[in-house]
Amino acid sequence: MRVIVVGGGVAGASVAYFVARGGAQVTVVDAGVHAASHVPSALLNPVRGQSGQVDGRAPQGLALTWALVRELEAAGWPIPHGQEGVLRPVPDERTRAKFARNLPPALPHRWLTPGEVPVALSPGWPHALLIPGGGWLDGAAFCAALLGASGAEVVRGRVTAWDARSVTLEGGSGLHGDAVVWCGGAVGSGWAGEEGAQRAGTLLTLDRPVTTLPVSFGAYLAPGAGGTGVLGATFEAPTPTWQEPTLPAASLRWLLNRGDALADLRGVRVTGRWSGTRLSGLVAGRQSDGLWRLSGLGSKGFLLGPLLARHVAGDVLRTGVP
Ligand SMILES: Cc1cc2nc3c(=O)[nH]c(=O)nc-3n(C[C@H](O)[C@H](O)[C@H](O)COP(=O)(O)OP(=O)(O)OC[C@H]3O[C@@H](n4cnc5c(N)ncnc54)[C@H](O)[C@@H]3O)c2cc1C
Repeated sequence: MRVIVVGGGVAGASVAYFVARGGAQVTVVDAGVHAASHVPSALLNPVRGQSGQVDGRAPQGLALTWALVRELEAAGWPIPHGQEGVLRPVPDERTRAKFARNLPPALPHRWLTPGEVPVALSPGWPHALLIPGGGWLDGAAFCAALLGASGAEVVRGRVTAWDARSVTLEGGSGLHGDAVVWCGGAVGSGWAGEEGAQRAGTLLTLDRPVTTLPVSFGAYLAPGAGGTGVLGATFEAPTPTWQEPTLPAASLRWLLNRGDALADLRGVRVTGRWSGTRLSGLVAGRQSDGLWRLSGLGSKGFLLGPLLARHVAGDVLRTGVP
């Protein structure tokens, strides 16, 4: 069976990995730009946002992503990461109660008092939730490892048209397969002229990690590859179509303020910025036109992307050659 995957972010790379593991021959066509998955330090954080929602698939997704990291590293694909947990400080009793209501017993967690918190937080956080199974990873390295280990042929180029069995690349050349899986993410959806919930955000890269484990509320501070750190958030106003992400001065100020509210940033040097756009509105499966699709992973690309990709890949393989 020959499978063509459009997009080599975490969705496409994970689909490629699982269909290849199932015995298919895989070609990934990737434009190589604007991949949200190249976020320098992605959190594996099952307790989401300021409401503390937990997706029912999060414990399984978390376990699978870490298992993949171990498997890929053992096969010789290094992936900078840290699995020391994620800390979610909460500003008041009301937020703590909201988080507590949403926490499933199946997700190991522990509430810490300010004295027990393992990092130096700024004042104003009466409680902090530690999720020991969480952590961070380098997004680009994870995708590169999945693609490399899949053995997929990777074609650099932009697909301009596609159907259930073939794709056409810019320039007019074509590829044919038994199945096409579309994983074009936010930018691909924009190029396709689709409307959807797009949201841009920025990570500032820092010369050192401010905290030894990721800390997240409003924005996040996390370690990054090679002894660096990041301060980031997806915080720009949502837009219905893809736009080149920018960092207006007001956003920079907002981000630095949120970072300062989490921990003391004095003496930390900003070494660069990475901006990206995520797409919400999950679609995972076969469409009415026969095309397969995995997109709209929102802010949970690394938490749920590989798990959903394994389901989609299994269905593609089971459906087989039409
Ligand atoms: C600022 C920010 C912070 C984030 N932090 C986290 C986090 O901490 N934890 C987490 O789990 N998630 C996080 N996310 C979300 C996560 O990055 C996304 O959910 C995930 O990367 C989406 O993956 P994807 O493969 O669907 O799309 P993408 O990673 O965007 O990949 C799509 C790829 O397809 C290619 N492509 C598109 N169209 C075509 C075409 N027509 N032809 C050829 N190639 C095409 C693109 O060039 C791109 O390489 C964050 C996102 C942002 C923006």
